[in-house]
Amino acid sequence: MFTPRISQLLALGLLLLLPGGCNTTKGSLRSELERADDRQAGRLTVRRDQGEQRRPSVTKSPSITPAGITQTIHRRPEWGARPHKASRVNVVGGRWEKITVHHSDEVGATVFNGSFSQSAHAVRSIQRYHLDVNGWGDIGYHFLIDARGRIFEGRELTWQGAHAGNSQKNRRNIGICLLGDFNHGAPSTAACAALEGLLDDLRRENSIPLGKVLLHSDLSNTECPGKHLSAWVKSYRGS
Ligand SMILES: [Zn+2]
Repeated sequence: MFTPRISQLLALGLLLLLPGGCNTTKGSLRSELERADDRQAGRLTVRRDQGEQRRPSVTKSPSITPAGITQTIHRRPEWGARPHKASRVNVVGGRWEKITVHHSDEVGATVFNGSFSQSAHAVRSIQRYHLDVNGWGDIGYHFLIDARGRIFEGRELTWQGAHAGNSQKNRRNIGICLLGDFNHGAPSTAACAALEGLLDDLRRENSIPLGKVLLHSDLSNTECPGKHLSAWVKSYRGS
């Protein structure tokens, strides 16, 4: 019967139209990626595919311990991650070559200065949006950092991310997202210290040069990760 399918499509259409336009959704956990895509497309559509391609399910879903990470990482079970969708993630298939820094942009940084449970809820909300609205295979970022400097494991490093704009930009590209809006406020000292330690670890383990630590805006037409965090990253990489 077609009727249920049509009603499902109508419901999906309403869902896609619900959040406001660019920079109008403070307080909702809508990924900055969609707003960047909206700006590029000039319309309120949600991109269904950030370069993730359907492929046969994999039978093995390795749970990795990020090699060489000296920082404390809050693993997926700690924040209540849902499983990834095996048919929609792709094995990285080679050495990581670059790292891209993002901000979540949905709410002011000060909202994320509290409890672990509050930050874990924020990470779950981002994952829910990426899975259920975007139709991606998992949360797009490999790591997320809150204002207290807690580092959350996002998408396992086994898999290519979905954060930079398309499949080519995501290729061998580790995504790190700081929770908060860093166009309108500076990241906390704790968050910057965690980011610095994580960048140092990831660069050392993967032989990634400083020049390959990128801003999202280096790759796409977006303000991400905001002027204050962008300034920090530029200082870190010396350019
Ligand atoms: Zn971004």
